[in-house]
Amino acid sequence: MAESKPSATRRQFFRDGLRGALLFGLGAVTTLFARHSQPKKLVWQIDPAKCVMCTNCATQCVLQPSAVKCVQIYPICGYCKLCTGYFEPQPNALNTGAENQLCPTGAIKRTALEDPYYDYTIDEPLCIGCAKCVKGCVLFGNGSFQLQVRHDRCVNCNECSIAVVCPGQAFKRVPADQPYLLKDRERQG
Ligand code: SF4
Ligand code: SF4
Ligand code: SF4
Repeated sequence: MAESKPSATRRQFFRDGLRGALLFGLGAVTTLFARHSQPKKLVWQIDPAKCVMCTNCATQCVLQPSAVKCVQIYPICGYCKLCTGYFEPQPNALNTGAENQLCPTGAIKRTALEDPYYDYTIDEPLCIGCAKCVKGCVLFGNGSFQLQVRHDRCVNCNECSIAVVCPGQAFKRVPADQPYLLKDRERQG
């Protein structure tokens, strides 16, 4: 027996179903595309390989004190007794007297460990980002002091006023989920 032709209602039902499936598929593809094409949030950071340790980070930030701070990268610190990032070039004595310290705000704390090693920690609220210790550390030390834009302070200006005047072009936009830049030595572990 020959099959009867589909009724008008049945044809309409199939047509509506097909249209629904197409629209659903299109919606899923659009959502997927939108998710992947959303621009990543970017923040400012300093490339330590390019910083020439001028004083602009201390004076040119829209915030005072600056959003740029010195950080101690412990895995590459030598824990030196004569830390050239901590002491004046010609200290009276290797002790914590204010007159012997290079840091203008006393932001670096020196603590004796097992002889002859010393620990140097940065008191961030006191740091103004002047880069004096960073410059001192690379003279004879391992370069474990470096400047970083601290994201708990930085207001992420559209145009960073330090970046505009940075002589080393050290400021970069980096993804907010990877907001710090390391030196080659740190990357190599
Ligand atoms: S302005 Fe640039 S070169 Fe100067 S201390 Fe800051 S990051 Fe370094
Ligand atoms: S010398 Fe300058 S950059 Fe270093 S800890 Fe002191 S204030 Fe910060
Ligand atoms: S983006 Fe603005 S707040 Fe952040 S370091 Fe630059 S000038 Fe300072």
